[in-house]
Amino acid sequence: MKSVAIIGGGITGLSAAFYLQQRGVPVTLYEATGRVGGAIRSLRREGYLAEFGPNTILETSPQITQLVRDAGLAPRRLDPDPKAEARYVARYGRPIEMPSSPLGFFTTELFTASAKWAVLREPFRPARRDGAEESIADFVKRRLNQEFLDHAIDALVAGVYAGDPGKLSVQQAFPKLAALEAKYGSLIKGQILGARERKRRGEVAKDRAPKFSFDEGLQVLPDTLRERLGASVRLNAAVTKLTRTEPGWTLNVCADGQETGVEHSAVVYAGTAFKLAELELATPAPLSLAAFAEIRYPPVASVVLGFRRADVAHPCQGFGMLIPKIEGFKILGTIFSSSLFPNRAPAGHLTLTCYVGGERYPELASRPLEELVELTCADLRVLLGVKGAPTFQHSVYWPKAIPQYNLGYGRFRARLTEIEGQAPGLFFAGHYRDGISLGDSIVSGVNVVGRVERSLAAGNGARPN
Ligand SMILES: Cc1cc2nc3c(=O)[nH]c(=O)nc-3n(C[C@H](O)[C@H](O)[C@H](O)COP(=O)(O)OP(=O)(O)OC[C@H]3O[C@@H](n4cnc5c(N)ncnc54)[C@H](O)[C@@H]3O)c2cc1C
Repeated sequence: MKSVAIIGGGITGLSAAFYLQQRGVPVTLYEATGRVGGAIRSLRREGYLAEFGPNTILETSPQITQLVRDAGLAPRRLDPDPKAEARYVARYGRPIEMPSSPLGFFTTELFTASAKWAVLREPFRPARRDGAEESIADFVKRRLNQEFLDHAIDALVAGVYAGDPGKLSVQQAFPKLAALEAKYGSLIKGQILGARERKRRGEVAKDRAPKFSFDEGLQVLPDTLRERLGASVRLNAAVTKLTRTEPGWTLNVCADGQETGVEHSAVVYAGTAFKLAELELATPAPLSLAAFAEIRYPPVASVVLGFRRADVAHPCQGFGMLIPKIEGFKILGTIFSSSLFPNRAPAGHLTLTCYVGGERYPELASRPLEELVELTCADLRVLLGVKGAPTFQHSVYWPKAIPQYNLGYGRFRARLTEIEGQAPGLFFAGHYRDGISLGDSIVSGVNVVGRVERSLAAGNGARPN
């Protein structure tokens, strides 16, 4: 029996494999490492529950809710403490709460009168409709002003992409923002009018979407999907070559030091772009994957620290704090993890999850644990009034963390579509194509299922029997 091969045991590959199997299509999932989850990594130790990859899932699509239900995980879902809504941005060397209402915006000390005036003027600024690609930095300067870029968007971009606003493409990295200008001529007008359309489509804006995790952290989701997939998951099995063998595919799989060829009806590549570039693709007309090595993934270190509650002056009540470069700190931001989910720290303690590196300071991410803790604590002392040594410290180094949807990224997406057209039965899904968030990856994994089924039904690829 020839199954559909899924390459990659991150959330994209697991979601795709899970639903294909549910629909009666046999699957084999190959994961190069000894664990599932990819960028998701939770650790329970010394009474703390640390997340080194994503901390929460944003429920932006009903497909995400459905996956949790279908995996039988609804009872283990953990919604954040409703009091943990506040988000802070560092300015004047301290965290200032981000306003959440128009009144709050006009009275906040986070922005000067000139930034507030820029927002009032925004609906009257001419819209650019020539379709030309633009960096998020240029976009914000054009529609708002430099202060907005330096004190808000730069911090947001560091928090989401660990990226550089001067390089990220607004059309590729923040397509909804670009679409607001294209469709409504203004971000403010679009924000108001677009809300109605989202409601009709059953979608939720990222800034309003509920976020959640699970009782034992996000790792619960990949671990459960793996359990449900049973023997279909092969760990420590790296795919090195794909050969088109009408009407299906042969995969070279490297496991236990041995390379073997395995036949499949179709293939879903749900790995990373940098590993895709290393894959050999043998098709009747030669196709190269080498260009995907140009996709930049900056390094990031996730530093999780525990402190005695009494040793932190700031209440740390909220989601967390973003830090713009202009403020001169080394960390990119901090999530108040145990404010979101109290079970992340033992009684009388709190957990702070901090990020170091990214495009801002790539050289810092690979520093040893002691140095990372030292530089993180130095920033936290100023920003949150932390004193005393951490009661818990652990870090994970991601040498290639998050793909940067920089200017020109569209050519990579177009190339993936082109290859799919020229290599029937081969599909691409995941964070390097359909959006970098965990939610985007789930939706990408769910959506590829329909494409695979349609292709098999049309006779592309050997029909699984
Ligand atoms: C530090 C960090 C913080 C993040 N924070 C958030 C957050 O707060 N919110 C959010 O929504 N998102 C966040 N993200 C992003 C989110 O976690 C990822 O986009 C998402 O998990 C990607 O899932 P994926 O399955 O597409 O890829 P991955 O998780 O990267 O999984 C790909 C898998 O494919 C395997 N693989 C690759 N090539 C092969 C091969 N040839 N053969 C076999 N296996 C292969 C890899 O080993 C890996 O396990 C964060 C990411 C990082 C790194």
